[in-house]
Amino acid sequence: TREIQLASRPVGRPVPENFRLAESALPELGDGQILVRNLFISVDPYMRGRMNDVKSYSAPFALDKALDGGAVGEVLASRSSQHKEGDVVVHSLGWREYAVVEGDAATTADTGLAPASAFLGALGMTGLTAYAGLLKVAAFAPGDAVFVSGAAGAVGSLVGQIAKAMGASRVIGSAGSPAKVARLLELGFDAAFDYHDGPVREQLEKAAGPNGIDVYFDNVGGEHLEAALSVLNVGGRVAMCGAIAQYNSTEPTPAPRNLMLAIGKQLTLKGFLVGGQRQHAAEFAGKMAGWLADGTVRYDETIVDGLENAPQAFMDLLDGANTGKMLVRLQG
Ligand code: NDP
Repeated sequence: TREIQLASRPVGRPVPENFRLAESALPELGDGQILVRNLFISVDPYMRGRMNDVKSYSAPFALDKALDGGAVGEVLASRSSQHKEGDVVVHSLGWREYAVVEGDAATTADTGLAPASAFLGALGMTGLTAYAGLLKVAAFAPGDAVFVSGAAGAVGSLVGQIAKAMGASRVIGSAGSPAKVARLLELGFDAAFDYHDGPVREQLEKAAGPNGIDVYFDNVGGEHLEAALSVLNVGGRVAMCGAIAQYNSTEPTPAPRNLMLAIGKQLTLKGFLVGGQRQHAAEFAGKMAGWLADGTVRYDETIVDGLENAPQAFMDLLDGANTGKMLVRLQG
């Protein structure tokens, strides 16, 4: 099978030389295993952290080995009682065309609900991150005013739409281009701004108006987090989901200079990992399927064709080339 290996560890921004397209032999199918032909693989911001050789919440990628990550594919052969030939399954051996996967490490995707790719996005980990981060971590309540950064991305675009669906008084998003800002308004955000257009704090204050914000869903960190701390109301809550502004940093970045505001405003800042939110997966899946079916929630995808283009897709993701979920399509 063809696979993408980590050829060297990026220092700062990843470059093409950090990746290598290679061939490797597939292992024989063992008891309980399935052979999967990947249809779509996911490239995700967290993978940047795994390219560093540091201990973190997920193990670093090994050099000269295939990368891994979310994928959805078709079962070609099965020695597992849980899956049969022709099933579409989600699993974690992405970055390759074919994979031998443990049957119990793959979940069936109901493609009657949505196309296979959605199970890496709105109906998958991305969607659960948005749903649980907003409703469980930030304890969103109807009437809250919500600000989400990275709002035109996979997670962010869902956060804003879920907040609207659940009765937010106002939903504000920030993103990196005028086209993304326009898209957010189409998706029902009440206000959106391009963070390149001026200081985030000034733009957020203006977008929020006199009522401020009650919840900040942080995908970005840095200046965005500092701005949100300034604008949050007393008792405000922050779901700390990501800090993509810092993923390529080679030096530790300073904390928000105004962190002290958390005291006087009695703020809650809570970090979370989607892996710790699995207990909400069934509730999420039911709600999201309904919202997609009735059009309450819409999702965008940016699709790149061909395994050989996966490294570029990953690099482009970090640079903001995507609207909605960034995916690599391997066939069909
Ligand atoms: P996105 O689809 O949002 O893609 C990443 C986006 O980040 C880009 O499109 C780009 O959009 C934006 N971006 C890149 N650099 C910067 C910067 N310096 N400042 C502001 N924005 C920037 O990815 P995901 O939806 O998959 O992930 C969003 C966030 O959620 C990430 O931080 C990720 O790590 C985190 N995450 C956390 C999880 C958890 O368990 N805690 C699970 C899944 C995701 P733009 O054009 O707007 O700059």
